[in-house]
Amino acid sequence: MRKPDKVINLERPPVVESAILVRLALPSDSDDEIEESLEEMRRLAWTAGAEVLCTVVQYRPDVCPATLIGSGKVKELRATCEELEADVVLVDSDLTPTQGSKLQEALGVKVLDRTQLILDIFAQRAQTNEGKHQVELAQLQYALPRLTGRGAEMMRLGAGIGTRGPGEQKLEVDRRVIRKRINRLKADLDEIRKHRRLQRKCRTEGSVGTVALVGYTNAGKSSLLNALTESHTHVEDKLFATLDPCSRRCPLPNGGQVIITDTVGFIRKLPHSLVAAFRATLEEVNEADLILLVADVSHEMVAEHIAAVNAVLDEIKVENKPIIRVFNKIDVADPAFVRTQLHGPGDPIAVSAKTGEGIEKLLKRIEDVVSVQRVRVRLRIPQCEAGIAGRVYQEGRVLDRCYEDNSILLDAEIDAALAGQMEAYVERSEPVAPSLDAACVQHA
Ligand code: GDP
Ligand code: MG
Repeated sequence: MRKPDKVINLERPPVVESAILVRLALPSDSDDEIEESLEEMRRLAWTAGAEVLCTVVQYRPDVCPATLIGSGKVKELRATCEELEADVVLVDSDLTPTQGSKLQEALGVKVLDRTQLILDIFAQRAQTNEGKHQVELAQLQYALPRLTGRGAEMMRLGAGIGTRGPGEQKLEVDRRVIRKRINRLKADLDEIRKHRRLQRKCRTEGSVGTVALVGYTNAGKSSLLNALTESHTHVEDKLFATLDPCSRRCPLPNGGQVIITDTVGFIRKLPHSLVAAFRATLEEVNEADLILLVADVSHEMVAEHIAAVNAVLDEIKVENKPIIRVFNKIDVADPAFVRTQLHGPGDPIAVSAKTGEGIEKLLKRIEDVVSVQRVRVRLRIPQCEAGIAGRVYQEGRVLDRCYEDNSILLDAEIDAALAGQMEAYVERSEPVAPSLDAACVQHA
């Protein structure tokens, strides 16, 4: 489905395993949906370091409760696995614990579903302590009900009469160890988060506006962060290259500045447990003053991608926040298609993080939205308090400066909150009117 220019010419990660991709196609799935979903699985596999040898799609009226796909197909698949010497079967949907273990038994090779594959990638990529904790927690929570052939049922029953049997004792010990570890991880994560909240508070002291970049994975969020801040964040044509939030100061054309945070990419069918595990990362989104919803407009499924992102924003309860829609990669998109997209809601902006086209316009728009609460002030600062003047220079835009007696007089545009903190020095203050095209789009 991806256009030829998307074919990645980066170096492949070392291929460690060969895989067969399996998908159950129900009557309710459209061909486009199936193809897009499989393409995503191929990219996930690629990112995880697996080579997909072939893809098997079974059309069935319903899900087979025991093994997802029908028993005839399972036999066929086993023969294919043997013939191609596959190491792993990747299933493009979520398996129940029972289906997972039954399929694995029937096929004689490792079976991973979408969630496990994503978790594996997350595990490879997490950099910070928090990211690593989150991944381990999600992995253990996923593994716990899968520790026994009887799976989730057993977990609901808990330990005790009727749940023990030969071999169950060891499983029970394993489960206890895992539960203990899960509690430990949760406690640690609470601590890490408290610390992060504090850090964030310090960072936003003086109320520099904050902007969160969200979007489908591979939309170009990290590239855009680089383009906006002229820095060099890790950019890769791989899914989930960014796992840990990364924040940068971004100077605005009017001399002000905002802090922009890159976030983990969203993906369709991002498993619920993962959204929960990464809630903290996504918290950054909820705390931001403005959201940039980045979409790859050269991708024909761009509308679906935006819908998937909106679904996650709903899930993490982002409401009534200004959103600017950014259509990225216009350098490789079909201009006619871009034009149709630009008619959509919320006055979107078309940019190319690669060529820099549209970046100035985007910065201007950001400025308009966040400068809503800016004020023009006249400050009289005693010369002995150079730190105060320094802060005005750093966080605001100084329009005029002169010296009188032992004071510095500054005419400046600063955030209302900063003006509040400097009340003692403010001689005069008036709001800066936002420009008329400041689009404050409510997220639909
Ligand atoms: P993220 O997952 O949303 O952070 O996406 P990245 O910033 O890592 O970019 C994903 C891929 O898209 C990389 O290969 C980038 O080089 C590429 N990319 C990003 N922006 C543009 C753009 O404006 N034009 C083109 N042609 N490629 C881009
Ligand atoms: Mg990224």
